[in-house]
Amino acid sequence: MEKKIGKNDPCWCGSGKKYKFCHCSFDEKIEEFRRKGHKVPPRKIIKTPEQIAGIKESCKINIAVLDYVGERIKEGISTEEINRIVHEKTLQLGGIPAPLNYNGFPKSVCTSVNSQVCHGIPSEEVILKDGDIINVDVSTIYNGYFSDSSRMYLVGEVSEEKKKLVQVTKESLEIGLQQVKPWGFLGDMGQAIHDYARKNGYSVVREIGGHGVGLEFHEEPWVSYVSKKGREMVMAPGMIFTIEPMVNMGTNEIFIDDEDDWTVYTADGEPSAQWEIMVLVTEEGYEVLCY
Ligand SMILES: [Zn+2]
Repeated sequence: MEKKIGKNDPCWCGSGKKYKFCHCSFDEKIEEFRRKGHKVPPRKIIKTPEQIAGIKESCKINIAVLDYVGERIKEGISTEEINRIVHEKTLQLGGIPAPLNYNGFPKSVCTSVNSQVCHGIPSEEVILKDGDIINVDVSTIYNGYFSDSSRMYLVGEVSEEKKKLVQVTKESLEIGLQQVKPWGFLGDMGQAIHDYARKNGYSVVREIGGHGVGLEFHEEPWVSYVSKKGREMVMAPGMIFTIEPMVNMGTNEIFIDDEDDWTVYTADGEPSAQWEIMVLVTEEGYEVLCY
């Protein structure tokens, strides 16, 4: 239980305003959802305007790094080269690459090629070939604030089949985004994504999801893209989370490389695609912070 605050006390959010003029009605709404049995966001994941401003600065670096990678990705370079590009550009812009040493992750970025679903480790031995698709997942710490987003890149001439997978995955994310609004449910977004991917003949990975982000690399809530409308956590203004569905051309089954303990592959060897954005729930709807 949260501590009881008097109507005239300063709000718990740190705005300096009296509680009755700030998050009082917000808390009443949350309490109403809680009473009905819904999952509600804890206060620590509701960002203040100051925190949001700091997170946006971090996002600017993340976006610039992904743009920079996009100009340099081509056939014949190794994924280690992408790691170097990301590492150097992030430092140059004043940030710190969040993946480096995170739970022992050895590199500054995740690079996942073709049937690699996510968490691929950059390597001198992985050389990009004509026709590859690759996800580059960049995360930045700047002034203590975290940002996280990923894009797909096409290497040379990519088959129509793979191009469609990449395109539909992006569209599914945008369709899910339309479901983000205050006092809706994360499941509204999850189901929209799942339905769209399935309609196109694809499957969505169940075991790995998105997450809250901003003050830490990974915060509550865990975000599923195979969830159901009206379920999962209530979306409240001030929450920031990622939308990052992993869409597989074949089965949704996956496995983790037992040698590196990180890289996730599709079980059937078919390609997988993923885009990741960061979204802020606002009073009116949403704001995309990082794409
Ligand atoms: Zn407040």
